[in-house]
Amino acid sequence: MSTQFEIQGLKSSIEGKEILKGIDLKINGGEVHAIMGPNGTGKSTLASALMGHPKYEVTEGAVTLNGEDVLEMGVDERARAGMFLAMQYPSEITGVTNADFLRSAINARREEGNEISLIKFVRQMEAKMKELEMNPEFMHRYLNEGFSGGEKKRNEILQMMLLDPKLVILDEIDSGLDIDALRIVAEGVNAMRAEDRGFLIITHYQRLLNYITPDFVHVMMQGRIVKSGGPELAQRLEAEGYDWVKEELGIVDETVGQA
Ligand code: ADP
Ligand code: MG
Repeated sequence: MSTQFEIQGLKSSIEGKEILKGIDLKINGGEVHAIMGPNGTGKSTLASALMGHPKYEVTEGAVTLNGEDVLEMGVDERARAGMFLAMQYPSEITGVTNADFLRSAINARREEGNEISLIKFVRQMEAKMKELEMNPEFMHRYLNEGFSGGEKKRNEILQMMLLDPKLVILDEIDSGLDIDALRIVAEGVNAMRAEDRGFLIITHYQRLLNYITPDFVHVMMQGRIVKSGGPELAQRLEAEGYDWVKEELGIVDETVGQA
């Protein structure tokens, strides 16, 4: 069965403050959806709420992956069900090597007794690192420790490639990347596009979408999707910024605000 991911009327609060005010979105396998929007409009909150970050309380709505209730699942269960989030600010974990972390993550998604062999894992990791033009030494470095912004983002894409998820959420994967790294990351994403995998790509800028052509583009403001279209919408935002959307919809302050 091809992947079907559906968000219905999702509302989420942080410390009692409502940030997401009703999100509806349906992503089928094979589709790339881009969520664009200025800072402070709720994009990262959506990513965190979908992955089950404990700080983000879901107060209303439903989320399903292939008919299964995602909101009932813990973070680990969501990962096992095939959800993957590349974070805007990946954490550094001292004492855990990149290779140990990734092998544990892969094995956590497998049945007991069916763990990936060390040799097979190392071969896969080496091959993917080569595709991403990463120095082999990153295999044995502590997770993200002392990595540059661009190295962290490449490492997130490496995780995505090895975990083979059904639903990929990328939160500002393009931030901090120079043009070469941007191209490499985009090629990694494009190589992963498949009929049974959906993508939700969150980005502030259109430039990533010059390399990854989305099927649908959504604009987020005030914790809602306020406009949706095709790739041409991203191009108009690149050329004209966000002001015309605000004018069209009568929005003065696009951020979630203090209300
Ligand atoms: P975006 O990713 O679109 O820039 P965010 O989802 O990060 O927006 O933030 C939306 C709003 O939620 C902001 O007002 C932000 O301050 C608030 N917010 C997000 N995460 C937290 C948090 N962990 N604690 C308190 N406020 C938060
Ligand atoms: Mg953000």
